[in-house]
Amino acid sequence: GKGAAMVTAVAYRLTDQARQIQETMAEFRLSKGQLLEVKKRMRMEIERGLKKETHKEATVKMLPTFVRSTPDGTENGDFLALDLGGTNFRVLLVKIRSGKKRTVEMHNKIYAIPIEVMQGTGEELFDHIVHCISDFLDYMGMKSARLPLGFTFSFPCHQTSLDAGILVTWTKGFKATDCEGEDVVELLREAIKRKEEFELDVVAIVNDTVGTMMTCAYEEPTCEVGLIAGTGSNACYMEELKNIEIVGGTEGRMCVNMEWGAFGDNGCLDDIRTKYDQAVDENSLNEGKQRYEKMCSGMYLGEIVRQILIDLTKRGFLFRGQISETLKTRGIFETKFLSQIESDRLALLQVRAILQQLGLDSTCDDSIIVKEVCGTVSRRAAQICGAGMAAVVDKIRENRGLDHLDITVGVDGTLYKLHPHFSRIFHQTVKELAPKCDVNFLLSEDGSGKGAALITAVGCRQRDQRSG
Ligand code: BGC
Ligand code: MG
Repeated sequence: GKGAAMVTAVAYRLTDQARQIQETMAEFRLSKGQLLEVKKRMRMEIERGLKKETHKEATVKMLPTFVRSTPDGTENGDFLALDLGGTNFRVLLVKIRSGKKRTVEMHNKIYAIPIEVMQGTGEELFDHIVHCISDFLDYMGMKSARLPLGFTFSFPCHQTSLDAGILVTWTKGFKATDCEGEDVVELLREAIKRKEEFELDVVAIVNDTVGTMMTCAYEEPTCEVGLIAGTGSNACYMEELKNIEIVGGTEGRMCVNMEWGAFGDNGCLDDIRTKYDQAVDENSLNEGKQRYEKMCSGMYLGEIVRQILIDLTKRGFLFRGQISETLKTRGIFETKFLSQIESDRLALLQVRAILQQLGLDSTCDDSIIVKEVCGTVSRRAAQICGAGMAAVVDKIRENRGLDHLDITVGVDGTLYKLHPHFSRIFHQTVKELAPKCDVNFLLSEDGSGKGAALITAVGCRQRDQRSG
Protein backbone atom coordinates (compact mmCIF):
# COMPACT_ATOMS: atom_id res chain seq x y z
CA GLY A 1 0.00 0.00 0.00
CA LYS A 2 0.92 3.63 0.60
CA GLY A 3 3.44 2.80 3.35
CA ALA A 4 5.40 0.45 1.16
CA ALA A 5 5.46 3.04 -1.63
CA MET A 6 6.87 5.61 0.79
CA VAL A 7 9.54 3.23 2.02
CA THR A 8 10.48 2.57 -1.58
CA ALA A 9 10.61 6.31 -2.29
CA VAL A 10 12.89 6.94 0.70
CA ALA A 11 15.13 4.04 -0.24
CA TYR A 12 15.27 5.34 -3.78
CA ARG A 13 16.16 8.83 -2.59
CA LEU A 14 18.95 7.37 -0.46
CA THR A 15 20.44 5.25 -3.22
CA ASP A 16 20.10 8.11 -5.66
CA GLN A 17 21.89 10.34 -3.17
CA ALA A 18 24.62 7.75 -2.65
CA ARG A 19 24.99 7.45 -6.39
CA GLN A 20 25.33 11.21 -6.83
CA ILE A 21 27.92 11.42 -4.08
CA GLN A 22 29.85 8.59 -5.72
CA GLU A 23 29.69 10.40 -9.05
CA THR A 24 31.23 13.46 -7.46
CA MET A 25 33.98 11.36 -5.88
CA ALA A 26 34.61 9.56 -9.17
CA GLU A 27 36.07 12.73 -10.68
CA PHE A 28 38.92 12.38 -8.19
CA ARG A 29 39.59 8.71 -8.84
CA LEU A 30 42.31 8.49 -11.47
CA SER A 31 43.02 5.39 -13.49
CA LYS A 32 46.53 4.06 -14.04
CA GLY A 33 46.28 5.36 -17.60
CA GLN A 34 45.53 8.85 -16.36
CA LEU A 35 48.41 8.72 -13.89
CA LEU A 36 50.79 7.55 -16.61
CA GLU A 37 49.59 10.54 -18.62
CA VAL A 38 50.43 12.85 -15.69
CA LYS A 39 53.89 11.29 -15.52
CA LYS A 40 54.38 11.78 -19.26
CA ARG A 41 53.31 15.41 -19.16
CA MET A 42 55.59 16.10 -16.20
CA ARG A 43 58.44 14.69 -18.25
CA MET A 44 57.55 17.01 -21.14
CA GLU A 45 57.46 20.05 -18.87
CA ILE A 46 60.81 19.04 -17.36
CA GLU A 47 62.36 19.13 -20.83
CA ARG A 48 60.80 22.50 -21.56
CA GLY A 49 62.22 23.95 -18.35
CA LEU A 50 65.70 22.63 -19.09
CA LYS A 51 65.96 23.74 -22.72
CA LYS A 52 67.23 27.21 -23.54
CA GLU A 53 64.60 27.95 -26.22
CA THR A 54 61.65 26.99 -24.04
CA HIS A 55 62.89 27.89 -20.55
CA LYS A 56 61.39 31.37 -20.55
CA GLU A 57 57.79 30.29 -21.10
CA ALA A 58 58.10 26.95 -19.30
CA THR A 59 55.87 26.48 -16.25
CA VAL A 60 58.07 23.92 -14.48
CA LYS A 61 61.07 26.20 -14.17
CA MET A 62 63.89 23.71 -13.42
CA LEU A 63 65.92 26.36 -11.59
CA PRO A 64 69.68 25.87 -11.21
CA THR A 65 70.83 25.90 -7.56
CA PHE A 66 74.63 26.04 -7.92
CA VAL A 67 74.85 23.06 -5.61
CA ARG A 68 77.16 20.75 -7.57
CA SER A 69 77.73 17.90 -5.20
CA THR A 70 76.23 16.25 -2.18
CA PRO A 71 78.16 16.52 1.13
CA ASP A 72 81.39 14.51 1.54
CA GLY A 73 81.65 14.55 5.31
CA THR A 74 84.45 17.11 5.51
CA GLU A 75 81.99 19.96 6.20
CA ASN A 76 82.89 21.75 9.39
CA GLY A 77 82.06 24.88 11.39
CA ASP A 78 79.31 26.88 13.10
CA PHE A 79 76.53 28.23 10.94
CA LEU A 80 73.36 30.19 11.26
CA ALA A 81 70.36 29.07 9.25
CA LEU A 82 66.99 30.63 8.53
CA ASP A 83 63.98 28.62 7.52
CA LEU A 84 61.25 30.66 5.86
CA GLY A 85 58.29 29.35 3.89
CA GLY A 86 57.24 26.15 5.63
CA THR A 87 54.85 25.60 8.49
CA ASN A 88 57.08 27.55 10.90
CA PHE A 89 59.64 30.32 10.59
CA ARG A 90 62.78 29.36 12.48
CA VAL A 91 66.26 30.61 13.23
CA LEU A 92 68.88 27.94 13.87
CA LEU A 93 72.46 27.55 15.01
CA VAL A 94 74.04 24.47 13.45
CA LYS A 95 77.41 23.13 14.60
CA ILE A 96 78.91 20.66 12.15
CA ARG A 97 82.00 18.68 13.09
CA SER A 98 83.92 16.58 10.58
CA GLY A 99 86.45 13.85 11.32
CA LYS A 100 86.18 10.28 12.53
CA LYS A 101 83.05 10.96 14.48
CA ARG A 102 80.91 13.36 12.50
CA THR A 103 78.38 15.28 14.53
CA VAL A 104 75.73 17.89 13.88
CA GLU A 105 74.36 19.83 16.83
CA MET A 106 71.41 22.15 16.40
CA HIS A 107 69.69 24.83 18.42
CA ASN A 108 66.60 26.49 17.09
CA LYS A 109 63.78 28.79 17.97
CA ILE A 110 60.42 29.11 16.23
CA TYR A 111 59.03 32.58 15.58
CA ALA A 112 55.58 33.61 14.46
CA ILE A 113 55.12 35.59 11.29
CA PRO A 114 51.86 37.45 11.67
CA ILE A 115 49.66 37.36 8.57
CA GLU A 116 49.90 41.15 8.23
CA VAL A 117 53.69 40.77 7.95
CA MET A 118 53.42 37.92 5.42
CA GLN A 119 51.19 40.11 3.32
CA GLY A 120 52.59 43.56 4.15
CA THR A 121 55.60 45.26 2.56
CA GLY A 122 58.87 43.48 1.80
CA GLU A 123 60.70 45.87 4.11
CA GLU A 124 58.42 44.97 7.00
CA LEU A 125 58.87 41.27 6.32
CA PHE A 126 62.67 41.44 6.22
CA ASP A 127 62.83 43.78 9.23
CA HIS A 128 60.76 41.23 11.11
CA ILE A 129 63.11 38.41 10.06
CA VAL A 130 66.14 40.39 11.23
CA HIS A 131 64.38 41.22 14.48
CA CYS A 132 63.95 37.46 15.08
CA ILE A 133 67.61 36.78 14.23
CA SER A 134 68.59 39.48 16.71
CA ASP A 135 66.48 37.86 19.42
CA PHE A 136 68.01 34.46 18.63
CA LEU A 137 71.60 35.75 18.74
CA ASP A 138 70.87 37.36 22.13
CA TYR A 139 69.37 34.10 23.33
CA MET A 140 72.46 32.15 22.20
CA GLY A 141 74.88 34.88 23.33
CA MET A 142 76.46 35.10 19.86
CA LYS A 143 75.84 38.63 18.69
CA SER A 144 79.46 39.46 17.92
CA ALA A 145 80.38 36.32 15.97
CA ARG A 146 79.69 37.34 12.31
CA LEU A 147 78.58 33.83 11.44
CA PRO A 148 78.14 32.47 7.93
CA LEU A 149 74.44 32.11 7.18
CA GLY A 150 72.42 29.81 4.96
CA PHE A 151 68.97 31.08 4.10
CA THR A 152 66.40 28.39 3.43
CA PHE A 153 63.86 30.32 1.43
CA SER A 154 61.15 27.96 0.20
CA PHE A 155 59.98 29.86 -2.84
CA PRO A 156 61.02 29.84 -6.50
CA CYS A 157 64.22 31.82 -7.01
CA HIS A 158 66.26 32.44 -10.12
CA GLN A 159 69.81 31.85 -8.97
CA THR A 160 72.92 33.07 -10.74
CA SER A 161 75.20 31.92 -7.92
CA LEU A 162 74.93 30.21 -4.55
CA ASP A 163 74.32 33.54 -2.82
CA ALA A 164 71.98 35.33 -5.24
CA GLY A 165 68.34 34.49 -5.76
CA ILE A 166 65.72 36.58 -7.50
CA LEU A 167 62.24 35.76 -6.27
CA VAL A 168 60.19 34.60 -9.26
CA THR A 169 56.85 34.69 -7.48
CA TRP A 170 55.50 34.25 -3.98
CA THR A 171 53.60 31.04 -3.32
CA LYS A 172 51.60 29.56 -0.42
CA GLY A 173 50.40 32.22 2.04
CA PHE A 174 52.99 34.91 1.28
CA LYS A 175 52.33 38.12 -0.61
CA ALA A 176 54.71 40.81 0.70
CA THR A 177 55.09 43.69 -1.75
CA ASP A 178 58.30 44.76 -3.55
CA CYS A 179 60.02 41.35 -3.35
CA GLU A 180 59.16 39.64 -6.62
CA GLY A 181 61.92 40.32 -9.14
CA GLU A 182 64.33 41.26 -6.32
CA ASP A 183 67.36 39.40 -5.00
CA VAL A 184 66.17 38.21 -1.59
CA VAL A 185 69.76 37.84 -0.34
CA GLU A 186 70.20 41.58 -0.94
CA LEU A 187 66.89 42.30 0.80
CA LEU A 188 68.16 40.37 3.81
CA ARG A 189 71.58 42.06 3.79
CA GLU A 190 69.93 45.50 3.59
CA ALA A 191 67.65 44.71 6.50
CA ILE A 192 70.65 43.56 8.56
CA LYS A 193 72.36 46.89 7.77
CA ARG A 194 69.27 48.90 8.73
CA LYS A 195 69.23 47.19 12.13
CA GLU A 196 72.89 48.12 12.85
CA GLU A 197 73.17 45.53 15.62
CA PHE A 198 75.17 42.65 14.21
CA GLU A 199 76.90 41.42 11.09
CA LEU A 200 76.34 38.19 9.20
CA ASP A 201 77.92 36.64 6.15
CA VAL A 202 75.08 35.46 3.90
CA VAL A 203 76.68 32.61 1.94
CA ALA A 204 73.84 30.64 0.41
CA ILE A 205 70.20 30.78 -0.48
CA VAL A 206 68.66 27.33 -0.37
CA ASN A 207 65.35 25.86 -1.43
CA ASP A 208 63.89 23.52 1.20
CA THR A 209 63.92 20.60 -1.27
CA VAL A 210 67.66 21.08 -1.73
CA GLY A 211 68.26 21.30 2.03
CA THR A 212 66.29 18.08 2.44
CA MET A 213 68.27 16.27 -0.25
CA MET A 214 71.58 17.42 1.24
CA THR A 215 70.62 16.41 4.77
CA CYS A 216 69.72 12.90 3.66
CA ALA A 217 72.78 12.67 1.38
CA TYR A 218 74.97 13.42 4.40
CA GLU A 219 73.86 10.08 5.88
CA GLU A 220 73.12 8.23 2.63
CA PRO A 221 75.23 9.05 -0.45
CA THR A 222 72.70 7.50 -2.87
CA CYS A 223 70.30 10.33 -2.04
CA GLU A 224 70.15 12.53 -5.11
CA VAL A 225 66.52 13.67 -4.99
CA GLY A 226 64.70 15.88 -2.50
CA LEU A 227 60.93 16.06 -2.01
CA ILE A 228 58.71 18.32 0.07
CA ALA A 229 55.13 17.23 0.59
CA GLY A 230 54.02 19.77 3.14
CA THR A 231 52.36 23.17 3.10
CA GLY A 232 53.63 23.35 -0.48
CA SER A 233 54.87 20.71 -2.90
CA ASN A 234 58.17 20.57 -4.79
CA ALA A 235 61.15 18.42 -5.74
CA CYS A 236 64.81 18.76 -6.71
CA TYR A 237 67.37 16.32 -8.09
CA MET A 238 70.90 16.06 -9.44
CA GLU A 239 70.69 16.76 -13.18
CA GLU A 240 73.51 16.45 -15.73
CA LEU A 241 74.99 19.93 -16.20
CA LYS A 242 74.98 19.46 -19.97
CA ASN A 243 71.18 19.17 -19.84
CA ILE A 244 70.77 22.44 -17.91
CA GLU A 245 71.11 24.63 -20.95
CA ILE A 246 70.80 27.98 -19.18
CA VAL A 247 73.97 27.27 -17.16
CA GLY A 248 77.35 27.02 -18.84
CA GLY A 249 79.54 23.94 -18.51
CA THR A 250 79.00 20.35 -19.55
CA GLU A 251 80.91 18.36 -16.95
CA GLY A 252 79.29 16.89 -13.87
CA ARG A 253 75.95 17.56 -12.26
CA MET A 254 74.02 20.32 -10.59
CA CYS A 255 71.00 20.16 -8.35
CA VAL A 256 67.91 21.56 -10.05
CA ASN A 257 65.03 23.02 -8.06
CA MET A 258 62.16 21.87 -10.24
CA GLU A 259 59.40 24.10 -8.84
CA TRP A 260 56.98 21.42 -9.92
CA GLY A 261 54.15 23.11 -7.99
CA ALA A 262 53.59 25.23 -11.11
CA PHE A 263 53.00 22.12 -13.26
CA GLY A 264 49.66 22.59 -15.01
CA ASP A 265 49.77 26.40 -15.06
CA ASN A 266 49.72 26.20 -18.88
CA GLY A 267 46.50 24.20 -18.80
CA CYS A 268 48.12 20.79 -19.32
CA LEU A 269 46.28 19.28 -16.33
CA ASP A 270 42.89 20.81 -17.10
CA ASP A 271 41.37 17.45 -18.07
CA ILE A 272 41.87 16.08 -14.56
CA ARG A 273 41.14 19.25 -12.63
CA THR A 274 37.64 19.38 -11.18
CA LYS A 275 35.37 22.35 -10.58
CA TYR A 276 36.42 22.09 -6.91
CA ASP A 277 40.07 22.55 -7.87
CA GLN A 278 39.05 25.59 -9.86
CA ALA A 279 37.15 27.02 -6.91
CA VAL A 280 40.19 26.54 -4.65
CA ASP A 281 42.34 28.31 -7.22
CA GLU A 282 39.90 31.21 -7.55
CA ASN A 283 39.82 31.62 -3.76
CA SER A 284 43.60 31.65 -3.43
CA LEU A 285 46.14 34.48 -3.17
CA ASN A 286 47.75 33.43 -6.46
CA GLU A 287 44.99 32.56 -8.90
CA GLY A 288 46.09 30.57 -11.94
CA LYS A 289 49.43 29.70 -10.36
CA GLN A 290 50.75 26.54 -8.67
CA ARG A 291 47.91 24.41 -10.01
CA TYR A 292 49.59 21.04 -9.33
CA GLU A 293 50.58 22.22 -5.83
CA LYS A 294 46.95 23.15 -5.24
CA MET A 295 45.96 19.55 -5.98
CA CYS A 296 48.54 17.87 -3.80
CA SER A 297 49.86 19.96 -0.92
CA GLY A 298 48.78 20.44 2.68
CA MET A 299 47.80 24.06 2.34
CA TYR A 300 45.11 23.21 -0.22
CA LEU A 301 43.82 19.68 0.42
CA GLY A 302 41.56 20.90 3.19
CA GLU A 303 40.29 23.61 0.88
CA ILE A 304 39.37 21.07 -1.80
CA VAL A 305 37.55 19.05 0.86
CA ARG A 306 35.73 22.16 2.01
CA GLN A 307 34.61 23.01 -1.54
CA ILE A 308 33.22 19.50 -2.01
CA LEU A 309 31.44 19.61 1.36
CA ILE A 310 29.88 22.97 0.48
CA ASP A 311 28.62 21.54 -2.80
CA LEU A 312 27.25 18.35 -1.22
CA THR A 313 25.53 20.45 1.43
CA LYS A 314 23.97 22.72 -1.18
CA ARG A 315 22.64 19.63 -2.92
CA GLY A 316 21.08 18.55 0.38
CA PHE A 317 23.31 15.52 0.98
CA LEU A 318 25.12 16.77 4.08
CA PHE A 319 24.62 18.75 7.29
CA ARG A 320 20.84 18.80 6.74
CA GLY A 321 21.43 21.10 3.79
CA GLN A 322 22.61 23.93 6.06
CA ILE A 323 25.85 25.71 5.15
CA SER A 324 27.25 26.97 8.45
CA GLU A 325 29.58 29.95 8.89
CA THR A 326 32.32 27.44 9.75
CA LEU A 327 32.00 25.72 6.41
CA LYS A 328 32.35 29.10 4.74
CA THR A 329 35.63 29.74 6.56
CA ARG A 330 38.81 29.40 4.50
CA GLY A 331 41.50 27.14 5.87
CA ILE A 332 39.49 25.31 8.56
CA PHE A 333 40.70 21.86 7.53
CA GLU A 334 44.39 22.01 8.28
CA THR A 335 46.59 19.00 7.51
CA LYS A 336 46.45 17.88 11.13
CA PHE A 337 42.64 17.69 11.08
CA LEU A 338 42.55 15.79 7.79
CA SER A 339 45.13 13.44 9.24
CA GLN A 340 42.98 12.85 12.32
CA ILE A 341 39.78 12.37 10.35
CA GLU A 342 41.44 9.79 8.11
CA SER A 343 43.14 7.88 10.88
CA ASP A 344 41.97 4.26 10.80
CA ARG A 345 42.09 4.04 14.54
CA LEU A 346 39.35 6.62 14.89
CA ALA A 347 35.81 5.46 15.36
CA LEU A 348 33.16 7.47 13.55
CA LEU A 349 32.10 8.93 16.84
CA GLN A 350 35.54 10.48 17.13
CA VAL A 351 35.30 11.84 13.59
CA ARG A 352 32.13 13.54 14.69
CA ALA A 353 33.93 14.92 17.71
CA ILE A 354 36.62 16.44 15.48
CA LEU A 355 34.00 17.99 13.23
CA GLN A 356 32.29 19.26 16.35
CA GLN A 357 35.55 20.89 17.48
CA LEU A 358 35.69 22.63 14.13
CA GLY A 359 32.16 23.83 14.72
CA LEU A 360 30.41 21.41 12.36
CA ASP A 361 27.37 19.57 13.69
CA SER A 362 27.26 16.22 11.98
CA THR A 363 25.10 13.14 11.96
CA CYS A 364 26.65 9.71 11.79
CA ASP A 365 25.94 9.57 8.04
CA ASP A 366 27.56 12.97 7.58
CA SER A 367 30.73 11.80 9.25
CA ILE A 368 30.94 8.76 6.97
CA ILE A 369 30.67 11.02 3.92
CA VAL A 370 33.19 13.55 5.25
CA LYS A 371 35.70 10.81 5.93
CA GLU A 372 35.25 9.42 2.43
CA VAL A 373 35.66 12.86 0.86
CA CYS A 374 38.91 13.40 2.77
CA GLY A 375 40.22 9.99 1.77
CA THR A 376 39.42 10.51 -1.88
CA VAL A 377 41.07 13.93 -2.03
CA SER A 378 44.24 12.84 -0.23
CA ARG A 379 44.53 9.65 -2.30
CA ARG A 380 44.49 11.66 -5.52
CA ALA A 381 47.10 14.01 -4.02
CA ALA A 382 49.43 11.14 -3.16
CA GLN A 383 48.92 9.57 -6.58
CA ILE A 384 49.63 12.64 -8.70
CA CYS A 385 52.59 13.46 -6.49
CA GLY A 386 53.80 9.89 -7.10
CA ALA A 387 53.29 10.32 -10.85
CA GLY A 388 55.53 13.41 -10.73
CA MET A 389 58.20 11.54 -8.79
CA ALA A 390 58.02 8.61 -11.22
CA ALA A 391 58.85 11.05 -14.03
CA VAL A 392 61.86 12.34 -12.08
CA VAL A 393 63.44 9.00 -11.21
CA ASP A 394 62.91 7.67 -14.72
CA LYS A 395 64.60 10.80 -16.10
CA ILE A 396 67.60 10.20 -13.86
CA ARG A 397 67.70 6.55 -14.94
CA GLU A 398 67.69 7.54 -18.61
CA ASN A 399 70.31 10.26 -17.99
CA ARG A 400 72.62 7.54 -16.77
CA GLY A 401 71.76 5.10 -19.55
CA LEU A 402 70.60 2.45 -17.08
CA ASP A 403 68.01 -0.29 -17.42
CA HIS A 404 67.62 -0.24 -13.69
CA LEU A 405 68.21 2.54 -11.17
CA ASP A 406 68.64 2.32 -7.39
CA ILE A 407 68.12 5.70 -5.81
CA THR A 408 67.21 7.39 -2.56
CA VAL A 409 64.79 10.28 -2.20
CA GLY A 410 65.07 12.50 0.87
CA VAL A 411 61.62 13.61 2.02
CA ASP A 412 60.21 16.20 4.37
CA GLY A 413 56.90 17.95 4.91
CA THR A 414 53.93 17.83 7.25
CA LEU A 415 51.64 16.03 4.79
CA TYR A 416 54.16 13.23 4.27
CA LYS A 417 54.98 12.98 7.95
CA LEU A 418 51.58 13.44 9.59
CA HIS A 419 49.04 11.99 7.21
CA PRO A 420 48.13 8.35 7.90
CA HIS A 421 47.95 7.24 4.23
CA PHE A 422 49.70 9.80 2.01
CA SER A 423 53.19 8.30 2.15
CA ARG A 424 52.05 4.72 1.54
CA ILE A 425 49.93 5.60 -1.49
CA PHE A 426 52.69 7.85 -2.79
CA HIS A 427 55.30 5.05 -2.53
CA GLN A 428 52.95 2.57 -4.19
CA THR A 429 52.31 4.92 -7.08
CA VAL A 430 56.01 5.58 -7.72
CA LYS A 431 56.62 1.84 -7.74
CA GLU A 432 53.82 1.20 -10.18
CA LEU A 433 54.62 4.03 -12.55
CA ALA A 434 58.41 3.68 -12.54
CA PRO A 435 58.94 -0.09 -12.42
CA LYS A 436 62.55 0.14 -13.60
CA CYS A 437 63.54 2.13 -10.53
CA ASP A 438 64.04 0.93 -6.99
CA VAL A 439 63.31 4.00 -4.95
CA ASN A 440 64.22 4.20 -1.32
CA PHE A 441 62.60 6.98 0.71
CA LEU A 442 64.46 8.55 3.59
CA LEU A 443 62.80 10.92 6.06
CA SER A 444 64.83 14.02 6.53
CA GLU A 445 65.43 15.22 10.03
CA ASP A 446 65.24 18.97 9.86
CA GLY A 447 66.44 19.39 6.30
CA SER A 448 65.84 23.09 6.17
CA GLY A 449 68.26 23.76 9.02
CA LYS A 450 70.91 21.10 8.63
CA GLY A 451 70.84 21.16 4.82
CA ALA A 452 71.25 24.92 4.65
CA ALA A 453 74.23 24.67 7.01
CA LEU A 454 75.83 21.90 4.93
CA ILE A 455 75.43 23.93 1.75
CA THR A 456 76.82 26.99 3.51
CA ALA A 457 79.82 24.95 4.63
CA VAL A 458 80.48 23.84 1.05
CA GLY A 459 80.02 27.43 -0.13
CA CYS A 460 82.57 28.74 2.40
CA ARG A 461 85.05 26.06 1.36
CA GLN A 462 84.69 26.87 -2.34
CA ARG A 463 85.14 30.57 -1.62
CA ASP A 464 88.26 29.93 0.48
CA GLN A 465 89.68 27.83 -2.34
CA ARG A 466 89.01 30.57 -4.89
CA SER A 467 90.74 33.22 -2.78
CA GLY A 468 93.70 30.88 -2.34
C1 BGC B 1 57.53 26.67 -3.39
C2 BGC B 1 58.79 25.81 -3.43
C3 BGC B 1 58.92 25.01 -2.15
C4 BGC B 1 57.64 24.24 -1.87
C5 BGC B 1 57.71 23.45 -0.57
C6 BGC B 1 56.31 25.82 -3.03
O1 BGC B 1 55.19 26.63 -2.88
O2 BGC B 1 57.32 27.30 -4.62
O3 BGC B 1 59.93 26.61 -3.60
O4 BGC B 1 59.99 24.13 -2.27
O5 BGC B 1 56.55 25.13 -1.81
O6 BGC B 1 57.92 24.28 0.53
MG1 MG C 1 60.07 23.09 6.08
